[in-house]
Amino acid sequence: MQWKNWSGRQQASLESLVFVRSEAQASAVVRQCAQAGKTIRVAGAGHSHAPLVTNDSVIVDSSGLAGLIGVDRQAQEAWIKAGSSIYSLGGQLHDHGLALKNQGDIDRQLLGGAIATGTHGTGRNFQNMSASVTGLHIILANGEQVECSKSELPELFNIARLSVGSAGLITRIRMKLQESVVLSEHIHVASYDDTVDRIAGLSAENDRFEFFWYPGTDEANIKTINPVVTEPEYPLAEEGGRVAWSYEVLPNHRPHLHTEMEYSVPAENGQACFAAIRHLIHHRFPSVRWPVEYRTVAADDIWLSMASDRETVTISVHQDIKLDEEPYYRACEEVFVAYGGRPHWGKVNYLNGDDFGRIYPRWHDWWRVRDQYDPEGVFLNDYIRGLRPQ
Ligand SMILES: Cc1cc2nc3c(=O)[nH]c(=O)nc-3n(C[C@H](O)[C@H](O)[C@H](O)COP(=O)(O)OP(=O)(O)OC[C@H]3O[C@@H](n4cnc5c(N)ncnc54)[C@H](O)[C@@H]3O)c2cc1C
Repeated sequence: MQWKNWSGRQQASLESLVFVRSEAQASAVVRQCAQAGKTIRVAGAGHSHAPLVTNDSVIVDSSGLAGLIGVDRQAQEAWIKAGSSIYSLGGQLHDHGLALKNQGDIDRQLLGGAIATGTHGTGRNFQNMSASVTGLHIILANGEQVECSKSELPELFNIARLSVGSAGLITRIRMKLQESVVLSEHIHVASYDDTVDRIAGLSAENDRFEFFWYPGTDEANIKTINPVVTEPEYPLAEEGGRVAWSYEVLPNHRPHLHTEMEYSVPAENGQACFAAIRHLIHHRFPSVRWPVEYRTVAADDIWLSMASDRETVTISVHQDIKLDEEPYYRACEEVFVAYGGRPHWGKVNYLNGDDFGRIYPRWHDWWRVRDQYDPEGVFLNDYIRGLRPQ
């Protein structure tokens, strides 16, 4: 049996790939695996570049656990099945006048996968998706089903709302939502120097701002997105300039297979770190042509969030799947780490457990609570187990 991720770079030969369609079935699978000493990783849409799903024992495909369970329009909250794709949720939530507060560049991920890695979009006032989670329904390593939130099993909630797939099989997620709004997107090309001079202003004046710099050129693509009081314009513009509901404007198509490394640095280091990466590319990797992206994320209080306790700028580098990205990414990683960076859980990094211990003040707490709920390591694969503090 084979499993591979979106890019094909992560592959696993495994004992069994199990498709689950109900919580009762999922719980029975977990109980049986635990009794047989097998390990389980849950697969979302397989869009992580890091070896998060790979396992030689059992992979549980969660896409059958999909759908909107219940919406509280007044509280702007909904219980959602964890295997729902972000794509499928847009229209369903909109029918209730609601929308996800934020989402990433694409909408192919499943909600359970997106929150497991702190998936984010851009905007200085927008937190990552894990920060919108207010409750979880989880199948623990012994097959028991529990609910957790800030007030109910709060330590479990702390590790599970950004779990890197290692706290249990999450079947339902309660998300804080927002009013569905029409967004207007603007994309324009500017010189890199102009863009950099305007970062503070663009970030302050727009709800959402990001830019891509294309190595080999002195140009940047600036994207800004803001709410507008107008009707959506259909058909949607193909290349930027969309005016439509948020779920129609925020995602993009990313058809070209690539790998990606992304680090989150303290917001105040964002500009200098980006300049250092650009300098590195100019001097050591002049053949790189894939873009470098700059985004912003608001701080949160999640133990393993890349934006935990600090306003954040994320910088990502990409490389074609056919090329060996490692020398380039390793050199970038040195720069990112020097600027106080934390790697995106779903993207490439070469850090070890000690490095994570230095980056996250609650690293040992996260492991203590995780081990309490899964002492035999049912939900660990080789990669995550290898990060365990000694
Ligand atoms: C083209 C592309 C664009 C991207 N754009 C962005 C972006 O704009 N912003 C951003 O932050 N990231 C982005 N990413 C990264 C992506 O959002 C994350 O890697 C995300 O975790 C992928 O979700 P998935 O459903 O594919 O999960 P997978 O990659 O399948 O799994 C990710 C983790 O979630 C766990 N998991 C999944 N479902 C469950 C569940 N039900 N219970 C417990 N654990 C579970 C898995 O075990 C694994 O540890 C992008 C990736 C690609 C390939």
